[in-house]
Amino acid sequence: MTRTQELSDNLAEVRARIDAACRAVGRRPDEVTLVAVTKTHPLSDVVALAGLGVRHLAENRDQEASEKAAKASDEGLDVVWHFVGQVQTNKARSVASYAHVVEAVDRPRLVDALSQAAVRAGRELDVLVQVSLDHAEGRGGVPIDSGLRTLLDLASRAESAPALRLAGLMAVAPLGADPSEAFAQLAEARAAVTAEHPAATMLSAGMSADFEQAIAYGSTHVRVGTALLGARIAPVV
Ligand SMILES: *Cc1c(COP(=O)(O)O)cnc(C)c1O
Repeated sequence: MTRTQELSDNLAEVRARIDAACRAVGRRPDEVTLVAVTKTHPLSDVVALAGLGVRHLAENRDQEASEKAAKASDEGLDVVWHFVGQVQTNKARSVASYAHVVEAVDRPRLVDALSQAAVRAGRELDVLVQVSLDHAEGRGGVPIDSGLRTLLDLASRAESAPALRLAGLMAVAPLGADPSEAFAQLAEARAAVTAEHPAATMLSAGMSADFEQAIAYGSTHVRVGTALLGARIAPVV
């Protein structure tokens, strides 16, 4: 079986899972966008997925992401790049030069750095504020254990920052805990944010193992790596 055939089969399976998850909760499948997480996989997979109609792609490390984005652009691919990793402030300029959506925004300094960088680059970035659902495990995100004030403040800062558009929220379910409980918490945070920012409707939640649960709690963007591309080729830090 060729790699493209393998990706095509995996894609059909993932899309069927998304459809079933939507049907189970009375949502329309076109409310959920598949974001393919291509980290550690070669550019040829990016090209193949784009050829199969996957338009949204994600990476989590700046160097790999910038190289792939440049090559994809050389190949003339029309793809939307999501940056889903933690962004070090000193990488803001690079990330702002190729990403369309920056998903893991979790502190005021990063909002400011991305805004400055986007202005300089003459680009507009969609940003998602990352919510921490794992009770301070240090995987990034704004904690919401003691209320939503910090989250709402950061959302407002992103919304009013030049060249940034607050698109919504992003989260990663905690390891070894019930994802539904975490996604329910996330849905509450999202309701509070959209009450103040009605246009910030995007909710990036759900990965290979838990996107059905995320869809049940309103996810609009599922970030799928392993179920689509197979095991990652190199260890990911
Ligand atoms: C790697 C990664 C994913 C994809 O995870 P899978 O379990 O392989 O689907 C999703 N979101 C983020 C932030 C990631 O880093």
